[in-house]
Amino acid sequence: MIIKTDPDIIKGYFEDYSGLLGGYADRVILPENEKEARDILLEASAKKIPVTISGGGTGVTGARIPFGGWVISTERLNKIIGINGKTLTATLQPGVRLSDLENELSKKGLIYLPDPTEPNAFLGGTISTNASGAKGFKYGSTRNYVKRLKILLSTGDIIDIKRGDYFINRSMIFSLKLKNKEIKIKIPDYSMPEIKTAAGYYVKDRMDFLDLFIGHEGTLGFILETDMALSKRPEGVMSFFSFFSSEDDAISFVRDAKTCNAMSLEYMDENSLSLLRTKYPNIPKSAKGLIYFEQDYKKESEPRLIDSWTKLLEKHKALTEDSYFADSDRERAKLKELRHTLPDAVNEIVKKNKMPKVGTDIAVPDAGFREMLKFYKEKLASSGIDYLIFGHIGESHMHVNMLPRTEEEFKKSREIYMEFAKKAVGMGGTVSAEHGIGKIKHHFLEIMYGKDNLKQMALLKKTLDPSCILGLDNIFPKELLE
Ligand SMILES: Cc1cc2nc3c(=O)[nH]c(=O)nc-3n(C[C@H](O)[C@H](O)[C@H](O)COP(=O)(O)OP(=O)(O)OC[C@H]3O[C@@H](n4cnc5c(N)ncnc54)[C@H](O)[C@@H]3O)c2cc1C
Repeated sequence: MIIKTDPDIIKGYFEDYSGLLGGYADRVILPENEKEARDILLEASAKKIPVTISGGGTGVTGARIPFGGWVISTERLNKIIGINGKTLTATLQPGVRLSDLENELSKKGLIYLPDPTEPNAFLGGTISTNASGAKGFKYGSTRNYVKRLKILLSTGDIIDIKRGDYFINRSMIFSLKLKNKEIKIKIPDYSMPEIKTAAGYYVKDRMDFLDLFIGHEGTLGFILETDMALSKRPEGVMSFFSFFSSEDDAISFVRDAKTCNAMSLEYMDENSLSLLRTKYPNIPKSAKGLIYFEQDYKKESEPRLIDSWTKLLEKHKALTEDSYFADSDRERAKLKELRHTLPDAVNEIVKKNKMPKVGTDIAVPDAGFREMLKFYKEKLASSGIDYLIFGHIGESHMHVNMLPRTEEEFKKSREIYMEFAKKAVGMGGTVSAEHGIGKIKHHFLEIMYGKDNLKQMALLKKTLDPSCILGLDNIFPKELLE
């Protein structure tokens, strides 16, 4: 095991993409096997030292940023233990980088479908946040692909469970039998919205017990190993970057496109396109919105699909002459790069402004999408704050990025965010559809579930992490553990 204490070296572990400042820890420990990880947690538990688990550090909620105690990094637990092409299963350690997994799988004609957008994220991090990616519209979030988890609790106990082993209900007391003991876990009784969500512990009637550990944000245990479901690579994938001269046309296109079996349906607004034009001047001047969509297909259906998508784009007045189309990995890589330029460009502005961005992760039921978008735009226009909106339009899940230039604008952005969260929750939406709550969104989670339910989450955590050392201040304020 490696232990790092040099402040200049370990300071890199005190940041992620949230802009949250002020993180600190005494040491960063890199275990190389299960025994070392267990010894660290047992010592920390005995001494009540807070432990923050660190993955790839690409999170956007400050969840891996420590405020005291120790950091356990999974970067040396990074083995692809096995890839079984017959059962379509990958057995992985938590520190496997998504890009490494993708490279290995592509050599074998396989694919990992959730494909969260940031290639430097680690598997353990994506399970812990229930990440989803651009293909989420068709294939859903990480949760759908976890077949087995091996979890080390802070007590040193190990839970090794497969999907289908145990089913639980809201409000019940579940007795989990471990090697030498039994843990009684009170399952909270709140109702989650029936849409894509990554806000708070996953709790449903007739849910798989395994699902409790997907999206737990490093608060319940240390994911040591996982079996993930794979798929065969599709025969073909076509990708379209289609510009529209009106936002309304773009949204109407999406409404129809939802019935056409697309893998992804993503959106960028006018402000996003203006920002991208500095690097990509060919983006048409008249474009007021972009829909990026992809479809996987069997070779024989290619001409029919191109024909039907072209007709649909024409029906909704897309700027077809200026749009981009890719049907090879090489061409697609260029579109991917264009798409990835946007968060990078946003980060550049954040650095220049010296003020963190305020980015939302709200999703609402489809029926309320237009109303929510109108609400965003009205509030933002009257605020005078720079912003851009992009995201997973197929799932009515947009990221509003507010880019304050001053302390005052930052405060105002947070107030506006609160208004967005209240409006979305009132419509049956979620305050986090994919990024999680981390350390910066407790008050939004409280709007969604209320303080009593946050207390139930804290109680649940205490039963699995009785010394209360893991991922403190993630999901709910640590004071609720007292
Ligand atoms: C440019 C960019 C694009 C992004 N796009 C997307 C996107 O499309 N969809 C999406 O969902 N997210 C996206 N994200 C956010 C981020 O990539 C995800 O949240 C990702 O899942 C974080 O993984 P990580 O390994 O970096 O985790 P970290 O940031 O290191 O940690 C995240 C959480 O996981 C916990 N954790 C890590 N490993 C373990 C473990 N072994 N056991 C228990 N807990 C653990 C940590 O304690 C922490 O709570 C994006 C981020 C960036 C910067």
